[in-house]
Amino acid sequence: MREALTSVPAYKAGQAPSAVAGVTSHKLSSNENPYEPLPSVVEAVAQAAASMNRYPDPTSSELVGAIAHKYDADPDEVIVGTGAVALIYQIAQTFTGPGDEIVYAWRSFEAYPIVTAVAGATATPVPLTDRLTHDLDAMADALTARTRVVLLCTPNNPTGTTISAADFQRFMQRVPDDVLVVLDEAYVEFCRDGSAVNGLTEYRNRHNVLVLRTFSKAYGLAGLRVGYGLGPAPIIAALRRTSLPFGVTAAASAAAVASLAAEDELSARVDAVVEQRIQLVERLRQQGWSVADSEANFVWLTTGEQTGELVNFLDRNAVATRPFAGEGVRITVGSQESNDRLIELLCELTPLS
Ligand SMILES: *Cc1c(COP(=O)(O)O)cnc(C)c1O
Repeated sequence: MREALTSVPAYKAGQAPSAVAGVTSHKLSSNENPYEPLPSVVEAVAQAAASMNRYPDPTSSELVGAIAHKYDADPDEVIVGTGAVALIYQIAQTFTGPGDEIVYAWRSFEAYPIVTAVAGATATPVPLTDRLTHDLDAMADALTARTRVVLLCTPNNPTGTTISAADFQRFMQRVPDDVLVVLDEAYVEFCRDGSAVNGLTEYRNRHNVLVLRTFSKAYGLAGLRVGYGLGPAPIIAALRRTSLPFGVTAAASAAAVASLAAEDELSARVDAVVEQRIQLVERLRQQGWSVADSEANFVWLTTGEQTGELVNFLDRNAVATRPFAGEGVRITVGSQESNDRLIELLCELTPLS
């Protein structure tokens, strides 16, 4: 095994809820969409399944075309992959190698340190501010001649906080032209903050900005693995060189295309999740928990030393959440029923901080 891999942290997937007799379980650990797939999407997948003896279209041209159409972009500015996570791997492999540096905020998406190490590059994690937002001044200070890529996550997983358009634009003035800035917007559909940065506007004016989005969260296709990137054509062309051949299956493509055709129905669901989030944050704060401002489909509670106790208590009651030992807990916003249950259970604990 390569020496560099000994230090790679394992990806900790959200746990399934423990089975507790007579108690309804709630999986709030992986930021999944609580709704079942739309019948039209299931139907599209069933049709695609009928030709599973054939390899899929290697360029996913129908899906790429549908995404380009949705955003009024050129198909040359669109790439799809087996989840946005696959595209993050490709970014590291395409643009970095040993000796190169990737700058990202910490805490942020836990795939970032992994892909950095896999590429053999060096990580430069920059601590979040006290408000659990990206510290863009400190990130700009952290750039060196060896920095090739900056990964920005907005809304940030796991804190839910966003980067403002003004802060992003000021940051970009300090970023050299030959450093790629990635806006990971996996949760952007849940964002209702009008001052937050929008990658679609930013990438069009620049040649070093790439936007990542996914069908896993807002579109509810996490199990099929399909995400996409939008960026300048030369960046996209470079990324295609590291694409896994035939990675995106015909079933995944069909589901994504059918989802884009059902956008109205799906965005009503996203609105309902946002309503739940607003309610949940308010109720948690009333209980005295320290909750970050979230624009995503999850909330972050700063629970410090109490994290283990809280997460174990919820687990004993068949509610799975995502702990970060000694720091806090990320809880996915689910259905009204899940949120009511969570609030009911958390009544029984007293926040320590
Ligand atoms: C979930 C997530 C992704 C994308 O996940 P895929 O399922 O691979 O599309 C990307 N970035 C962040 C920050 C995420 O939380």
